Amino acid sequence: MQATDIQVKEGTKNYNNYGAWLRQKYNGQRVFKVIIDGGFTCPNRDGSKGYGGCTYCNVDSFTPSVSRKNPSIREQVIQGMERARTGNRADKFIIYFQPNTNTYAPAHYLKMMYDEALSYGNEDIVGLSVGTRPDCIDAEKIALLESYTDRFDVDLEMGMESIYNDTLSQINRGCTHEELINALNLVKNSKLDVCVHTIFGFPWETHDMMLRYADEINRFPQIKFVKFHHLHIVEGSVMGVKYKREPFKVFTLDEYADFLCELLPLVRPDIVIQRLFGLSDRELLIAPNWQLKKSEIQYYIDKRIADRGAIQGSAL
Ligand code: SF4
Repeated sequence: MQATDIQVKEGTKNYNNYGAWLRQKYNGQRVFKVIIDGGFTCPNRDGSKGYGGCTYCNVDSFTPSVSRKNPSIREQVIQGMERARTGNRADKFIIYFQPNTNTYAPAHYLKMMYDEALSYGNEDIVGLSVGTRPDCIDAEKIALLESYTDRFDVDLEMGMESIYNDTLSQINRGCTHEELINALNLVKNSKLDVCVHTIFGFPWETHDMMLRYADEINRFPQIKFVKFHHLHIVEGSVMGVKYKREPFKVFTLDEYADFLCELLPLVRPDIVIQRLFGLSDRELLIAPNWQLKKSEIQYYIDKRIADRGAIQGSAL
């Protein structure tokens, strides 16, 4: 691949980053996600797929505490937009159904929830983002989500977590990699923007195994966004209990930044990277505790990527 083919967008980063992508797409306006807890549950918790959930999961760790305290969708939308306006000078918003499995209900119920959340922003809501599991997507739900695309950008986010079924089994995911592939095939010709979420750092996966995630992601042109996370161990999770009993190796910030410098050149350059690392509430985080704020971690990683001249897609 020639350097001129690399589609890393404007800005100083060597990768196709979501912030720059949003600014370009929305003509420089400041667009922020408003996290909504729709009160959904998860088939890996209620017994239909499994009990206890994925071993790394404490649903609360994904959600800012302010979103957890607001029971009504209306309050969450209005207060979330207000916080983003005052705290981040936000102009526009993406309604983001994040905690649990946000397509795990009949389509008519999902429609009611999405409609309600999208009804409070007038012209200021530009997008709908829905986080879910690959085994909770079907043609009817895809059609429902697509029905919003005439008014909103719709982003369907699915947990890939690992490309290895052995890992998915060890983390009690209750879902195989083939089920993710099936879901990706279902959305192949849809108008949805597809995002996959991965986790790096399961102690039994080697460095080379983790780098191979890029090849698997690259195979699917329908993947538009990715979220890369490092494994973090949180209170209230099965892994947290095990880690406290018998700590295992987790990424240091240096190691993770170096890993990303190897990974990014292998990632298709048109893919937009929504996140490079995970973050959970400090009070829930057990390890790794890098003792830095989100912006400091971002700066540290971006600097390492720049210093090492790692460019997304350059090794393809
Ligand atoms: S990570 Fe997602 S699928 Fe797994 S238990 Fe938590 S909410 Fe359910």
